[in-house]
Amino acid sequence: MIKSTVCFDDVLLVPQKSSINSRNEIDLTTSIGKHKFRLPIISSPMDTVTETHMALAMFEAGGLGIIHRYNTMKEQCLLVRDIAQILEDTSSTNINNIAAAIGTSSDFLQRAQGLVECGVKILCIDVAHGHHVLVEKSLKTLRDFFGERVTIIAGNVATPEAYRDLADWGADGVRIGIGGGSICSTRIQTGHGMPTLQSILDCRDSADAAIIADGGIKTSGDIVKALAAGSDMVMLGSMLAGTLESPGEVFQSNDNKRYKVYRGMASPEAQIAWRGEARSLEGISTTIPYKGEVCKVLKTLSKNIKSGLSYTGARNLNQLRSSAKFIRQSSSGLLESRTHILNK
Ligand code: IMP
Repeated sequence: MIKSTVCFDDVLLVPQKSSINSRNEIDLTTSIGKHKFRLPIISSPMDTVTETHMALAMFEAGGLGIIHRYNTMKEQCLLVRDIAQILEDTSSTNINNIAAAIGTSSDFLQRAQGLVECGVKILCIDVAHGHHVLVEKSLKTLRDFFGERVTIIAGNVATPEAYRDLADWGADGVRIGIGGGSICSTRIQTGHGMPTLQSILDCRDSADAAIIADGGIKTSGDIVKALAAGSDMVMLGSMLAGTLESPGEVFQSNDNKRYKVYRGMASPEAQIAWRGEARSLEGISTTIPYKGEVCKVLKTLSKNIKSGLSYTGARNLNQLRSSAKFIRQSSSGLLESRTHILNK
């Protein structure tokens, strides 16, 4: 039997009666473990998305930035110390809602200890195939070592079995989505994956860990659909790449427009940069138009997500989840759903 699935473009949310007069009445607060967030958005742990400036901007906007792990432990700790220093200089806040990604290789515990000593309270086990015995071992080791002192995110996975396992092994939050990333070629190279929206629908209510929808989210509409399907937060790569705060230089192309590089961490370019050789290739590197300050991108997203909640008549994410009604749209419906006056 072959299961039929839905992806973001296959569905729409049905508008419902609303008593909401202003977006100010809508609260987007969410949580992972004991950490609360005003904005349900996380920036991806990628070397063209999250380092010091992005993590700070995400923190200030009420979301979460996860500093990538494609560096030495010393370099990663320096990035975290920079954040701590800037926060100390500009406010009395500490680095509560900043995370760092770690892997599962031999030094993962040492790296985690180093990061926690720098003040990090959220760790993220960041691997391509999270339903794996190495992730089980790492999660259990981290939980034994740190107890409840740290909040742990792990992933990525795509099935309810995997989501339940990661939650049982100690994860407070699980990244859900395999093969859907805009720069991802996993499905082409390996034939494996699941539409991210379908995975969320399958996983919701299977365990208590927070669900983080990750991969293939391209519009604020997709974010609303992911939250309505059962995600507690969404993780964004391409939507936040190309901003002032993402790592990398802005450059001008022959068309006189400005661009930045955005690349998958399994692209040949990224692998050669961080480990000197390209082993398995499951990602690509590209350039995307420069978008300016990320706070403006996040403000627009926040407004649009709130408008999305108001169409369902929901004042918060719990109400959105319990009231949302999805319908499947046809391919003509998808054409009609896009601005189409310019289509010839
Ligand atoms: P996007 O938001 O659609 O651009 O997807 C970003 C997500 O793609 C990240 O959060 C990762 O889960 C995933 N990802 C990052 N690098 C790669 C890669 O090289 N191959 C496959 N997936 C990747």
